Amino acid sequence: MKVTTTASTSGAVPANAVPASSSRASRIAPHSHIKGLGLSAEGFAQASAAGFVGQEVAREACGVVVDLIKTRKFSGRALLLAGAPGTGKTALALAIAHELGAKVPFCPMVGSEVYSAEVKKTEVLAEAFRRAIGLRIKETKEVYEGEVTELTPAEAENPLSGYGKTISHVVIGLKTVKGTKQLRLDPSIYEAIMKEKITVGDVVYIEHGSGAVKRVGRSDAYASSYDLESETYVPLPKGDVHKRKELVQDVTLGDLDAANARPQGGQDIMSVMGSLVRAGRTEVTEKLRREVNKVVAGYVAQGVAEVVPGVVFIDEVHMLDVECFTFLNSLLESPMAPTVVLATNRGRARVRGTEDVVAPHGVPVDLLDRCLIVKTVPYSRDEVGQVLKLRATVEGLQLGEGVLERLSAEGEKGSLRYALQLLAPASILASLQGRAEILEEDISEMNELFLDARTSAARIPLDGGFDGG
Ligand code: ATP
Repeated sequence: MKVTTTASTSGAVPANAVPASSSRASRIAPHSHIKGLGLSAEGFAQASAAGFVGQEVAREACGVVVDLIKTRKFSGRALLLAGAPGTGKTALALAIAHELGAKVPFCPMVGSEVYSAEVKKTEVLAEAFRRAIGLRIKETKEVYEGEVTELTPAEAENPLSGYGKTISHVVIGLKTVKGTKQLRLDPSIYEAIMKEKITVGDVVYIEHGSGAVKRVGRSDAYASSYDLESETYVPLPKGDVHKRKELVQDVTLGDLDAANARPQGGQDIMSVMGSLVRAGRTEVTEKLRREVNKVVAGYVAQGVAEVVPGVVFIDEVHMLDVECFTFLNSLLESPMAPTVVLATNRGRARVRGTEDVVAPHGVPVDLLDRCLIVKTVPYSRDEVGQVLKLRATVEGLQLGEGVLERLSAEGEKGSLRYALQLLAPASILASLQGRAEILEEDISEMNELFLDARTSAARIPLDGGFDGG
């Protein structure tokens, strides 16, 4: 065998496993019935579509925002959803992410999360933004199998034809059932071949992913062949040649930052992506983020990866303070910003961190200036009923006679959220009684145990609490 180290185009993303992006799944679970904004092609809201019920004006406004985002006319701006608790603000933000495409990251957070003892306020915001920017990595996985052949002197001496001369590569000849093939592979194959003491006449297999060699071995040693479909080794049909599979992995910049801050070593994508930049750090710093950005930009330029801007949702945005608002303004300016959706249930309020600055929604006017503001309205009894029905179906709950009407009335009196929250404990009560079906009496019992916010406030004096009696 002749192995020649020369030049090639290599160095793409080597990766082979789908990482679990930290998606804050538990926060999104109550919205699993929401599949989009439910708008017609003309942008009109259907009374109930894509899991969305009512709230037509807000949905149509969000549809306009989606169009602006898609036509890149929303950068540097934000959407502010203003409305009472449980009026679907989170659901609208999630629906926007769905409308932007499959697997578009959605990163929800609550304003008060920035007040952590361990992490700087602005750091919490920066991380949420990074988690809302996806990276779709396209990987080609290939396996070559065949008998190692002698290269002709011409092949060995002139392996540069058609290739760049800047980066080294290795040429290897493989005879297969379909003929002889020359492979130009990553230099790492040279070491692997030497280590395995592979020589002419050996039947080998070479596992290769997006430009880098993953594994090389004598096929008779493995006595099996790698099957890309099942990702397992199957009995080897000797001399078979080339199998190819396109893989797509979705990660977020936040995942990459975290993986690079704590490199693990190994072959799965997060390990490999976790060694993009210099190892040995323990925390995500701005410098590390810049380095990750640089490597990502390289992958994008090579066509190996595609940036997928997602949606960052900051609920109770009035809980942020003036320092956070200033930082938020600068994040909005950054070229790689996700879509920013803010939500509040406050009218005029003091801007936190100031003595006496009162602003609409507790948001400084310079940020408000950048916002499109959309109002959400309370639901009618009928609409509450429709959402309850959707949730009961998703959660596999059976509602007995009169239950939906009863819960709808509770929802109208309290809030949609309150009515939805009664479903789970009522179903536990039903199953404790050996019933599959939730009955009205379960709702009554839960209603006695729990209070909706309005009733609770009415029963407990606002001046600070219980009278101690
Ligand atoms: P908060 O301000 O308290 O966070 P919110 O306005 O964000 O409340 P959501 O959390 O979106 O309200 O709504 C409460 C629940 O009701 C969620 O499960 C949500 O998916 C569902 N929901 C709200 N509005 C609708 C709607 N119009 N159609 C279908 N489901 C809805």
